[in-house]
Formats: sequence, C-alpha cells, structure tokens
Amino acid sequence: MSTPPWLAFDRHHIWHPYAAMNSDLPLYPVISASGVRLTLADGRELIDGMASWWSVIHGYNVPELNAAAEAQLKKMAHVMFGGLTHPPAVELARLLVELTPEPLQHVFFADSGSVAVEVAIKMALQYWYSRGKPEKHRLLTIRNGYHGDTFGAMAVCDPDTGMHGIWSGILPRHLFAPAPRCRFDSEWDDSDVQRLEELAERHRDELAAIILEPIVQGAGGMRFYAPEYLRRVRRICDRFDLLLIADEIATGFGRTGRLFACEHAGISPDILCLGKALTGGYMTLAATLATSRVAETISGGEPGVFMHGPTFMANPLACAVASASIRLLLASPWQERIRRLQAGLEAGLAPCRELPQVADVRVLGGIGVVELRSPVVMRDIVPAFVERGVWVRPFGRLVYVMPPYVMIAEDLAVLTGAIREVVAETTA
Ligand SMILES: *Cc1c(COP(=O)(O)O)cnc(C)c1O
Repeated sequence: MSTPPWLAFDRHHIWHPYAAMNSDLPLYPVISASGVRLTLADGRELIDGMASWWSVIHGYNVPELNAAAEAQLKKMAHVMFGGLTHPPAVELARLLVELTPEPLQHVFFADSGSVAVEVAIKMALQYWYSRGKPEKHRLLTIRNGYHGDTFGAMAVCDPDTGMHGIWSGILPRHLFAPAPRCRFDSEWDDSDVQRLEELAERHRDELAAIILEPIVQGAGGMRFYAPEYLRRVRRICDRFDLLLIADEIATGFGRTGRLFACEHAGISPDILCLGKALTGGYMTLAATLATSRVAETISGGEPGVFMHGPTFMANPLACAVASASIRLLLASPWQERIRRLQAGLEAGLAPCRELPQVADVRVLGGIGVVELRSPVVMRDIVPAFVERGVWVRPFGRLVYVMPPYVMIAEDLAVLTGAIREVVAETTA
C-alpha cells in the first residue's frame, strides 16, 4: 500500500485513542463511508463491524440525517445555551423524556459520554449536598465497568482491568463490588449480589449513588449479566437511600434488543446517561436525564443551581441530527433488525467455541463477542481483518463486533466468517 504524505504527518503530530505518538501500528486512511462500508484511500472497501464504537446504528452517509444537518446548518450551526434556547434542543429533549422511563423528566445536554457521566456524578453529589448530607459523596460500582476517560469517570472504571490503573493513587477512592457472575440468561443466584448489598449497607451514610452499565458491561470486559441483578440493585438503592445512575451510553437506542437496557429488568434509574448512538454517530452529543426528585432537590437547595455548563451545550446541529436519528430509528423495523443481527452473530460465531484459543463466545442483541484465552497482537490481527475486507478492532482478549443495525445477512456472514478465520489463525 502506498502511503499518502498526510499519513506521515498524522503519525508525528496527532494522538489517536489509547495510542503512542510515532506509533508504527497500522493506521488506515478512510476517505469516505456509506451504508456499512468504509472506503480507504487506496480504494479498498471494508465492512464495518464496529459501528464506529457503537454509534453508527443506521450506517454512514444516511440521507435523512444528512438532510437534517443541512437544514439546521442553514439556520444556525451553534448558539450559546446560557439564557438562550432553540427548537432543536426542545424537540430532542421532548423525544428523550418521552422514550425513557416515566420518572426521568429533566435533560442536561453534554458534549460527550464522559462528560455526561461527570454530570451524572455531580448531580448525585449535589443532590445530597442540597439535602444537607454532603458526607454522602462516594460512589459504589461493580468491577469490569467502563464509564469514560475523564477523571471523575475514570474513578468508577474497573481499577484493575480498566485502562486507568496508573491513576489509582490520584483518583477519588470509590467502592467496588465484584462483577456479576450470572450471565444474561443464566439461573439467578442470590449470592451474586450479596457483596454489593453488604457494601451498600455498611457505607450507606457516605454513599451518594450506585453507578453501573445496565445489562451490558462494554469496554471493561464486554460482559452481559442477568436482568434480575439489575432489579436487585434498584431494590438495594431504595432500601439504603442511594441514587441509581444507569450508564446507557453504549446500550441506549436499541443495541441490546430493547430501546434501553434497563427495560430488560423493568426498572428506572434516578439518573440516566446517554451518548454514542444518540446522533446516529454523526457528531458528538450526550445527555444526562434525571428524575424530578433529583432535579427539584438540586434546584431547591444551596446554591440553588446545578453547577455545570459546557460551551457547546445542546449544540443545535447535533440536536437536530439526534432527533432525526431517533425518528429514523423508531420508524424502522429496528427490533426485527436486532433479532436478525443476533441470529446471524450466533450462527456465525458459534463455530469459534470449538477453537482451543477461545474461552467464550457470547451474543446479545446486536453485540457479538469472542473472548480468547490470551490477548490479541494488534499489529497482526487488525491487518488480518483488513485483508479479509472487514473492520474489526479487538482489545485485550476480546474480539467483538456491534454492526450497524442495517447490515444485511450477506455482509454479516462475511464479517463473522472473517472472525472465524482470523481467530483460528491466532496462536493459543
Ligand atoms: C463510551 C462510553 C463512555 C464514554 O463516552 P465518550 O463519548 O467516549 O466520552 C461512557 N460510558 C460508557 C458505558 C461508554 O460505553
């Protein structure tokens, strides 16, 4: 492959996610994308298994979303949100309040998932501050979680397997219960949630909230756990007077087969974080929703306002595209599409179970995971996928995909076929 000169500039000057400067790991230039395909600078096309990290649920270059962006662009790309408002923000907030569980009535627009988590944590702490209990400022979570890369969010990511281990001496010290052992559809065992319950009870006077990813733990291990676990967590929060923060940044908008993963358990959190697929992967936007109890307590206490306000809060362009993306989703046969993705991933990945280098294969909704016994070698495995015409970016021992919902069976078969071949080639 000939290297375009701007690629050399990239190597020397631009950080990539979780990367070193001047890294010699493969880096592929994408010049356009359409449907489920990325087009590289040399003309090759890759079927995208990653949906650009959960976000591109409708595929790339979607006429409806392009039209929404263009229409809003002609009105205004941005305006500050302090003392001003605009129709795209109101329309999107209306949609989010309508679609999420009934108690969630109040929307804070943030500019990324990590910031939405920061906002959620700050809301929980300020809720207790306003109630005259500032000593309730710690968080309880479960291991194998991932909540983002900013410092507040890092502090509730898994302290060992997380990507932030070097900061352990600097971050606020929160409480970690073991990750759920139950699988999504395994039989329920009360002992699974026992340690979390003990920690909640013992530390109730200093705890503000439990924060977790409902049903699917994403970047912290790609694990799926039983809805009963989540129901128990809700009950523990009620019993010991803790708020429940559900981080649905990865799971929101249909990925697990329900619009929101909390629906599997029929529970509602006090605070909900959304992001990633919110704009259909067009631009960065996130939201933190809260119940009236939380919002009114904060607004009625001291200092009487919620202390947060990003420069690009409720960016009109992003809000307009987000509303268009949600309407497009709701008008589509998305449940059927997720069922088909699930069936295709199950059928396509099941043979991996027979491979000696594979520890586990699991599928839930539009998420397929092949867990290996040892970590992949990025330098080898990513090019092996690209050679087969697919885009898959594993991490650690996990080869996983979450394709755009619109991927047809033939493309999905190419994707899972490539995973079978590449995994079979890796050394155990
Ligand atoms: C990706 C993710 C985040 C962080 O979102 P960014 O937009 O990358 O800041 C937080 N929580 C979960 C569950 C995520 O998957």
